[in-house]
Amino acid sequence: MFLRTQTSAGNPNARDSLLNLWGHILCLSYMQLTKTDFIQYLNCPKSLWLLKTAPDHYPHGEFSTFMQKLVREGYEVEHYVKQLFESAGDRDASFQAVFETDDGLFARVDVLEKMSGGTTALYEVKSSTSVKTDAKHNHLKDACFQKICAERAGQSIDGVFLVHLNGEYVRDGEIDPSAMLVFADITEAVDDVLAETSAEIDAALAFLASDHDMNGCSCTEKTRANHCDAFSLFNPTVPTPSIYSLPFIRQNKIRDLRAMKVVGLDEVPGEFTLSDNQRLVVESFQHNAPKINEAAIQRFLSGLSFPLYFFDYETYSAAVPYLDGTGPHKHFPVQYSLHVLEADGSLDHKEYLEREARLPDRLVARMQEDIGPTGSIVSWHKSFEETRNRELAKRYPDKTDFLNDLNDRMVDLEDVFKSDYVDARFDGSTSIKKVLPVVCPHLDYKELVVQDGASAMEAWRRMIDAPPDEAEKIASDLLSYCRLDTFAMVEIYRFLESI
Ligand code: SF4
Repeated sequence: MFLRTQTSAGNPNARDSLLNLWGHILCLSYMQLTKTDFIQYLNCPKSLWLLKTAPDHYPHGEFSTFMQKLVREGYEVEHYVKQLFESAGDRDASFQAVFETDDGLFARVDVLEKMSGGTTALYEVKSSTSVKTDAKHNHLKDACFQKICAERAGQSIDGVFLVHLNGEYVRDGEIDPSAMLVFADITEAVDDVLAETSAEIDAALAFLASDHDMNGCSCTEKTRANHCDAFSLFNPTVPTPSIYSLPFIRQNKIRDLRAMKVVGLDEVPGEFTLSDNQRLVVESFQHNAPKINEAAIQRFLSGLSFPLYFFDYETYSAAVPYLDGTGPHKHFPVQYSLHVLEADGSLDHKEYLEREARLPDRLVARMQEDIGPTGSIVSWHKSFEETRNRELAKRYPDKTDFLNDLNDRMVDLEDVFKSDYVDARFDGSTSIKKVLPVVCPHLDYKELVVQDGASAMEAWRRMIDAPPDEAEKIASDLLSYCRLDTFAMVEIYRFLESI
């Protein structure tokens, strides 16, 4: 295989990665194509090519973490699908049957069932609550790939079913697979896309077997939401921040800027039409200073009333409901941190971590003790906390007044950073993880064992089943993480006050 590559003098790390890749890609031989590969191919052939040809160098970012979670949840659901088939007794089902073809297709079919009359049905298991047909998780194409692979390997498939979760299911005691699972007959829908999918599979195999280069990729004309984890590797000359960091920039603007060979924020012409916020980011970068609307910040601060309750939840959710009274993918709070700042500057910290597999009844009771009847509740991205409070109010009607009152008193500190304090170093984001290191560089999350909400969720689940010593260590990590979330807000608030 021949690889053409272009290195970047401006980005030695990216250049080294490319040189390493060269060695790996020259060692290529036979490649398999699975349904997951195929869906990735449909989203972007080039990213699949990189993943297959140089897996050790494929950058695994947020999207990969998300995909890992999906796969893990899929296994959990499969367990109950198997239970359901086996409990029927008279069903002739096999699980995880493998089909391979000489040209590289590989399928591990979740369930294959011999039906009366000699026909065969294929079942694909998903942890979602519906049949999805969007680009990132196209269940029809996924199931169609399995059918085509099985049939090319000699197994005819007469019916195709997608088994997904029932979004209305609420656990009550042992999991009831027949109530939790939905069997959707997608035979016709799969047949409708069969010819097209077959052609796409052949194109994917041909694409993987041919030469490609590392110079750029088609996402250079798309917004950042479309980029995969490999964008920087294919585009090492794109700086950070860049035009892709501009908040809510549309594709047509990116195309116009690229047509003018503009990529860096220093190159954006003053006369180019941008939204007010986008222009603020550009000006911040070009003047190497934040753009601050002091009057608006003062208005925000003077609207707060003491004591200030800096508040943050951590939640747990799972595909297969973990506790009675919960449903698939439904969040429930397991932890909160609360910093209470008085008008005289004194600061108190309160926290709660549920250490048992239990709904948040004790958590809400503690909140009621910790949060007084007056004072602003300060959160970051408040819609998350507000939604949890509304859900809790439904679950615990006697707490409705308290929880509604919290929402009435809630303010969103993130709002300030949307338009009144804009810094290009936030890289087009107003997440607290991006804002904090810029405005309060003495604080960061890097030293913490738990560094984000998704890993907090996983850690909480591990803590529940862990032996006491290990559970104590995990609890301490969780408390440190949530504490920093609210202390970060306190420090950001103090920073704003000092402006
Ligand atoms: S950034 Fe876009 S075009 Fe480039 S490899 Fe990723 S998905 Fe493909």
